[in-house]
Amino acid sequence: MIVAEQKPFKEIVECLRGKYDLLIVPCMSCTAVCFAGGSQQGEELASALRIHCKMHGDGLNCTVRSLNRQCDPEFIEELAEEAAKADSILSLACGVGVQFLAERYPDKAVIPALNTRFAGGKTAPGIWEERCSLCGNCVLHVTGGICPITRCAKGLLNGPCGGSEQGRCEIDPNVPCAWQMIIDRMSTLGRLDELLAIQRPKDWSTGNAGGLRRLVREDLRG
Ligand code: SF4
Ligand code: SF4
Repeated sequence: MIVAEQKPFKEIVECLRGKYDLLIVPCMSCTAVCFAGGSQQGEELASALRIHCKMHGDGLNCTVRSLNRQCDPEFIEELAEEAAKADSILSLACGVGVQFLAERYPDKAVIPALNTRFAGGKTAPGIWEERCSLCGNCVLHVTGGICPITRCAKGLLNGPCGGSEQGRCEIDPNVPCAWQMIIDRMSTLGRLDELLAIQRPKDWSTGNAGGLRRLVREDLRG
């Protein structure tokens, strides 16, 4: 999932620039799951803004309307009536959702309430970790299901750098060495010898360095 966290309240207020005729839009998918942008967080943000505006003598007209997803035009359409009445939309979605809202409602100021962090998941209560850098050409089948691009600090594809100590990464002892994990996993699977195969330099043309990526499924096009 996409992991995000809420911007500091002060920053959200600065982003709003006094635009308090507001539609607050939580997203009930990824950002709700990581407790950053769901309905509860939307209501809490609305309450905090009400208190802030009361303390500063600013008027606030604010509605909270959750969407199941903000990265999908069908769901965004559900907002049309409420959006028409607001000056600004404060989105609690990831950056994808914010941009989809801005494209659909170009006459509104669409403001992100969250910082979108990475693609990952929950590893312990209150902890989320990155697992995929979205490279577009997955190598997990040769690395025992552990991503060296994301989890090795140097993105190495042909074994460890030599700085690993007691299974920890040399850049941070709090981080396990991805290559130690890969070797351990491949040993467990009885496939350690497969790591002797040299991985050719990665073809990054599927990565994000070349601008906008687009996926076309001809079989699904109308
Ligand atoms: S190899 Fe690429 S697609 Fe696969 S998990 Fe790593 S970054 Fe993601
Ligand atoms: S210590 Fe391990 S995870 Fe860290 S950079 Fe070296 S190989 Fe990668």
